[in-house]
Parts: sequence; structure tokens; C-alpha cells
Amino acid sequence: MKQKIIKTKAKEIFTKTNLPGADYVINQYIGCSHGCTYCYARFISRWKGHGNWGTWIETKINAPDLVRGRKISGKVFMSSVSDAYQPAEKELMLTQRILENLDKSTQLSILTKSDLILRDIDLLKQFKNIEVGFTVNSFKGKRRNLFEPSSPDTLRRIMAMKELKKHGIKTFAFVSPIIPELFDLSEVVKNTRDFADYFWFEFINLRGAGKEFKEILSHNYPESLKTIQDKQKVNLYIQNIVSEVRKSGVKIKGIEIH
Ligand code: SF4
Repeated sequence: MKQKIIKTKAKEIFTKTNLPGADYVINQYIGCSHGCTYCYARFISRWKGHGNWGTWIETKINAPDLVRGRKISGKVFMSSVSDAYQPAEKELMLTQRILENLDKSTQLSILTKSDLILRDIDLLKQFKNIEVGFTVNSFKGKRRNLFEPSSPDTLRRIMAMKELKKHGIKTFAFVSPIIPELFDLSEVVKNTRDFADYFWFEFINLRGAGKEFKEILSHNYPESLKTIQDKQKVNLYIQNIVSEVRKSGVKIKGIEIH
């Protein structure tokens, strides 16, 4: 798919955030060609006017200059409306140049779906307080094509997590999105537990995912959508998963229910 790349310049790159576990976010990219159909950031496409989510990205070309010499107290999360290691990063190297210039005592948390991050292992190791998370789930075949059409698959993400762990980098698993009937908790935990220092769990944010995602569920997995829309059923499903999560024995940092 042809991707539109729009170059912009920012005045500031550290943005205050209310996201759990973070004080600031860095979004050197806005938009994401991984194009996950459940992505809560898809709404941005409506007011940017560059086209459908996944077909365009804005790149803040001066981001590496904006981090140089800055001392940030508090935790910095990368990124909240894009993936810092989406395919364009391979050539643009914006994330890499930010890491080069960023103060190495910054408390940095990176969340990605891409093993491209392995390219920057030597840089990551220079940070005194860093963690890298990977979004993991159990989508395969048709579900993966429908929900995550363009990102590296979960197996590649887990292999990357394993590699970072081998290099002494703290890792976490962001288990998301948990969708009734379409999620296998035991598989995800079994495949990931040896390589993740801790876990976040997140249930599907149907409102954030938007109308198109609801339509995808309605056409392909109507039973799942019915469960999500039935308060009693969805609460029971959440209770069961939360209880299984607690029994699994992994270290839990948070469980997000929208
Ligand atoms: S990788 Fe993350 S930011 Fe990118 S489309 Fe998927 S959910 Fe959205």
C-alpha cells in the first residue's frame, strides 16, 4: 500500500500525559502504517484529512533536535498515537536519532509491535532506566488479517522480547486487545512469561476503536460483539479473565478495562 509521508516541525516533543504509568509522551510520528483496525488513535485521521488510518504518517523531522540537552523528571512513554518502529523508521531513522540525542538518564518506556527495535539494541543499552514492551495477543489467520494487517506477528514480537531480555533490557508484555471469544489467555501467557518482566492487560476499547471496527466484528464475529454489548455478559467475561490472570502467577502491573 502506498504511504503518504508528511514532514512537519514541532515546537515541543515532550507532551504531558494522563496515560497510566507515564508522565510524558513522545510522538515523533503521528499516524501508523501498522494500521491496526482496533487502534484507538484512528480518530486522528478524521481531523488530519490525509486519508484513512494506516495510509499516512506525519514525521516531526526536528524531534531529534528537540530532545537534545533536555533533562526530564518523570517517566517518558514512546509512543501513544503511533509505533516508533513502524516500517518508515527503517529509512527515516527518526526514533534512532532521538535515542542518540536523548539524555541517557531519562526514564524511558517504549511500546512497539515491531522487531525493528532490535536494530537499536546498543543504543537502548546506554539508558540507565529503560523498559521495552511488546503488544502481544493470540490473533492468527483471518483474525490477524482483519485486526492487525501490517505489523510483524506476535511470534516475531516475542522473539524480539527474548533477544532484548538476553541483552539485559527490562521488558514487558502488553496483552491487548482482549476480545471476548477471540482471545486465548493461556497461550499468550505461556509463550511470553519467560521473557517479560511484567504484564499489562487491556480489554478492547470498543468506543475508541470506532465504527469500522464494530462493523468488522459484526460481520465476522457477531457473537463476540453481542457479548461486548451485553453488560452482564461482558462483566462476567472480564471477571473470569481477571481471575485467570491473577491465577497465572505472572507479575501484573495493570489491568485496563474501558
Ligand atoms: S501499532 Fe499501535 S499505534 Fe500503530 S496502528 Fe497498531 S495500535 Fe495503532
